[in-house]
Amino acid sequence: MSDDLNAKMLLVHEILDRTSPPEISFLVMRDPFQFLISVILSAQTTDENVNKVTPELFSLYPDAESLASADLETVKRIIHKTGFFNTKARNIIGCSKGIMEKFGGKVPTEMDDLLTLPGVGRKTANCLRANVLGLPGIVVDTHFSRVINRVFDLGTRDPLIVENFVCEHLDPQHWGRFSMTVNLHGRQYCHPSKPECAECPLKNQCAEVAKVPL
Ligand code: SF4
Repeated sequence: MSDDLNAKMLLVHEILDRTSPPEISFLVMRDPFQFLISVILSAQTTDENVNKVTPELFSLYPDAESLASADLETVKRIIHKTGFFNTKARNIIGCSKGIMEKFGGKVPTEMDDLLTLPGVGRKTANCLRANVLGLPGIVVDTHFSRVINRVFDLGTRDPLIVENFVCEHLDPQHWGRFSMTVNLHGRQYCHPSKPECAECPLKNQCAEVAKVPL
């Protein structure tokens, strides 16, 4: 059974790898610190909104040292468009302070260290590891968990269960690319309601389609 799941996971990865653009990036790519702050700001909003506010934010506060001592009200004003700006402003200043105080101004790379920073959960940490640091990481957001749940009939969208399931059945070298292609697939085909199954390149592998044939 496990071998079957490994083979199916690899096949899904290969199909999405082949049918997706070679480069997929939703946030403007920057150095690890600015990328980490951008991912924290992306919670509950679109990446487009984040990309609108970060030029001003990083022109004033380009690194952990400057953002750690930033004026809270100024930061709130700048990031206002991303929503939840009170919490996000406190988190990105707190995250910068944590980087300065615990890690000498350098963004840590280990999961346990990243999780000590305000505003950083597993999704944010894995996003940084996979996209910027070149380390293995499965980025489980709402799109990713919806697609995996449907294709593998997982019966849950719990982020940690979904992450562990994929980690168990896919080689770590594919995790970063798989995170991006599954996410894009969720946005393009596998919508929350009315997924475009007839056009979907995964339709022959998908458990959801097997339950309700096209
Ligand atoms: S076949 Fe439908 S439900 Fe399955 S992954 Fe594709 S769009 Fe989603």
